[in-house]
Formats: sequence, C-alpha cells, structure tokens
Amino acid sequence: MSSTLTSAGQTFQALLISRDEAKRQSVDQVELRVDDLMPGDVLVRVTHSTVNYKDGLAITGRGPVVRRWPMIPGVDFAGEVVASDNPAYAPGDPVILNGWGLGETHYGAYAGMARVKGEWLIRRPQAISAHDAMAVGTAGYTAMLCIMALERHGILPERGPIIVTGAAGGVGSLAITLLAGLGYRVIASTGRAGEADYLKGLGAAEVIARQELENHAKPLDRERWVGGIDSVGSHTLANLLAMTMAGGAVAACGLAGGMDLPASVAPFILRGVSLLGINSVTVAKSLREEAWARIAGELDRGKLASLTTTIGFEGIRDAAARIMEGQIRGRVVVDMAL
Ligand code: NDP
Repeated sequence: MSSTLTSAGQTFQALLISRDEAKRQSVDQVELRVDDLMPGDVLVRVTHSTVNYKDGLAITGRGPVVRRWPMIPGVDFAGEVVASDNPAYAPGDPVILNGWGLGETHYGAYAGMARVKGEWLIRRPQAISAHDAMAVGTAGYTAMLCIMALERHGILPERGPIIVTGAAGGVGSLAITLLAGLGYRVIASTGRAGEADYLKGLGAAEVIARQELENHAKPLDRERWVGGIDSVGSHTLANLLAMTMAGGAVAACGLAGGMDLPASVAPFILRGVSLLGINSVTVAKSLREEAWARIAGELDRGKLASLTTTIGFEGIRDAAARIMEGQIRGRVVVDMAL
C-alpha cells in the first residue's frame, strides 16, 4: 500500500475501549497513527459514522459486542479511500462499511482513519451522500433487509398491515419510512406516546402502545397484521407472532426488550406464520448492494432529515449512553469534521 507508507505516521483521533485485568472497561479518546491500525488492504478516511444500539452496548459495556481488546468501536462508516492494494478500489472512491466485525473484532469507525478488507466495503451509491448513508446506517440497512425478506415471502402491501416495534428507534423509524413509501399500511408500536405525531409524520397509519405487546403471549391471539419488523424480541416478538394473520411473516432483527422468546409453536403450525431471522453483519455483498441501491433510490430524504440528529466526534459517548436508555429518537449521524 504505497501511499499508506507515506502516511503511516499521520495521526488522527480515535475512541479506544480498553479492559484491565479485572475486566473493568474504560473508554478513552486517544491519538493514533496509521500504522497503529489493524491489517487490511484499503485505507479509508472516515468522514461520517453513526451511533447504533450495538455501539451503545459496546461503549457502555452492557453487551458483549467487543471481542478483541483494545478496540476502536463503531460498526458503520462512510468515507473516502486514501490508499488501496485492492484492485476494486482507488484513492478518492466513496465507500460504506456496515458490520463484518467492525468495532467488534476489527478496529472500527470512531476514528479519523480505518484500514479494512476491501471485500467488506461497498461503493456508496452516487444518489446518497455520506451524511445520509450514515443517517441510514446499519439500522436503516437492516430495516431494508427486513423488508426484502418480507417481500421474498410474498408479504406485499395488498396483503395487509405491517407492525413495526421499537418504532421511534433507529430500525423502527427507518422501517416505517421505507414501508410507507412502498405503500404498506404501517402500525407503529412505541413506548413513547409523545412521539405519535413524529411516527405519523414518517408514515405510520396507526400508533399503538408498547404495553399492548408486553404481556405473556397467548399461543394464538386476534389476527391483526400480516407482517412485522421487530427490533424488541422477548414477549413483544411472541405477541407479534400470536397476532399475525395466517400465512404471514415476522422479520426479527433485534433484542432491545430481551433476548428470550417466550412463544409457542401455535402460530407456525396452526397459521403457517413464518419467523424470518435477519443478521446484517455477514450478509452477502450482492444483497448489501441491492439493499443500498434500493435505499438510495426509494428513501424519502425529507423524512430522513426529520428523523436524524447530527453530532460531532465528541458527542459519541453521550449518544451511546442515551441510546441504551431508549432516549434517542430516530438516528444519530457522527460528522467527523464537527
Ligand atoms: P434504538 O435504541 O434506536 O431503538 C430501539 C427501540 O426499541 C427504542 O427506541 C424503543 O422504541 C424500543 N425499546 C427500547 N428498550 C425497550 C424495552 N426494554 N422494551 C421494549 N422496547 C424497547 O436501537 P436500533 O434501532 O439501533 O436497534 C434496535 C435493535 O435492533 C437492537 O436490539 C439492535 O441490536 C438490533 N439490530 C440488529 C441488527 C441485525 O443485524 N440483526 C442490525 C441493527 C440493529 P420505542 O421508544 O419506540 O418503544
């Protein structure tokens, strides 16, 4: 990587999570050099990142996200290639990275520079800016993967309404916006009654209280929707399944309410309901590119702006703490230049 050699001593700011011998975690803002980065064949100047729930888990230490110490957290970035040994990329190329262990096992996005495997990158579609790509981020890209999974299952707008849980969060807000844009009738479930107008502004036709789905689920309940996008898990997901119409499907992507699933098999065997698991981290490149091309083409930018807050590098730790408390509405973009 010839130009990396010339920039090997270049310094940049990074967040670094460390752990002491007693496994106590600390998060520090440090200055690193390019040659401190982990191996990879493409060097990227990170211009934008974002704060996802998973980043909150990593920075607060509330979930086992980090699996190599020390670690630069941050599972998503948008940036520009600085140097490349990979024939697919050249300096100046606009790129996005979501997942692939970034911020978990490989130094992540909360740094001025990142060195990664070129095969993890995708080219940022021209139709979406780096800022907007991170307003979408893993949360929005996962929402699109959920929609694509429902579509593959034949859950189209004319089949009936779709429930979105964790509605005022990142995955939820983007799922509502994208589904409404495609013509689906969307039912939004939220614990924040005060956000009803916000959710309707994104395209929700109906807003229901999170509590309606929090009790222990019956094996089968009244059929209320044909599909669902669930970022909550636990009793909420069990209720979603019990209330899904015959032949419907629920895409499960999150665990904001718990990792368990206290459900019965009744919806599967008596109504033919399907549970579609979504893992955005290791999705094949072709599916990633399809999801991003659709996001770039289909997402309403006015609504995206209405669900996005932009912060600077210094604000990451505070945003990480607030996302764990369910205090972030929609999405947070980190503009590294602020
Ligand atoms: P956010 O924090 O932005 O959204 C989560 C939302 O869930 C909150 O805004 C809140 O919505 C609701 N919520 C929070 N706590 C609870 C609770 N105890 N009980 C019920 N509802 C709760 O996170 P993201 O949107 O970034 O991520 C959502 C989930 O999806 C996370 O679990 C994350 O790990 C997962 N995820 C998984 C991916 C995958 O590849 N499978 C990729 C991306 C995210 P409200 O206030 O409206 O009720």
